[in-house]
Amino acid sequence: MNRNVATIPQDLIAALKKAKHVVVFTGAGVSAESGIPTFRDSLTGLWERFNAEDLATPGAFRKDKELVWGWYEWRRMKVLQAQPNPAHIAIAALATLVPKLTIVTQNVDDLHERAGSTDVLHLHGSLHSPRCATCGQAHILPPGIPVEPEGGRRLSPPVCICGGLVRPGVVWFGEDLPVRELRQAFEAAQKCDVLFAIGTSGLVQPAARIPSLAKQAGACVVQVNPTSTGLDRECTWSVRGAAGEIMPNLLQAAFGRTA
Ligand SMILES: [Zn+2]
Repeated sequence: MNRNVATIPQDLIAALKKAKHVVVFTGAGVSAESGIPTFRDSLTGLWERFNAEDLATPGAFRKDKELVWGWYEWRRMKVLQAQPNPAHIAIAALATLVPKLTIVTQNVDDLHERAGSTDVLHLHGSLHSPRCATCGQAHILPPGIPVEPEGGRRLSPPVCICGGLVRPGVVWFGEDLPVRELRQAFEAAQKCDVLFAIGTSGLVQPAARIPSLAKQAGACVVQVNPTSTGLDRECTWSVRGAAGEIMPNLLQAAFGRTA
């Protein structure tokens, strides 16, 4: 089989082998390799006549809570039907091969965790950690994969013990990113030796600052992406291709390990 696998620069392998703290910053491209549609692409099928403002804002939830909860439960169902891909698995393995590794993700799924990663910093929240919209109490979802509401999209959100409604645990348009996660991500970017930006266009602020903070602090910035992105000029190296091929190859090249 003649596969066109990107060559991994020798300098990158050397930098990774001696790195003391690695940051892995992931975006939608990594989830897409598991078949999870990106945010925009998830507005298809039942949802194609909607736009983000109908579904992903605090105002949308106030206006039509069943519609919004139904969409997020549908997306959570899609995630739970998907599996971590070789990139998630290689990243989890990398954590056992370097002294310190911090995962920062823009993704709202749990694929890093299901691949075995812990302490993942979710900058945009998670589909799997809903909370009360009134008191903030975390809400435990029933185990298993949610079922599609019969004959439609609408689903009533659970009610908290305080009487408030449970809302999705994601960051909506018009909301701030979680302060603790963002602070920890910025700190890690400023302290690391090597930062990987994988499957992210790096355009959405304030998360887009993460690669530039690492670069300013003297770290090597490695982009792994099939296409050119806004991050190109921040990067020490850009490795073009699927993360699910490149990350396992990199692990093999640097540590002689398969994930
Ligand atoms: Zn409550």
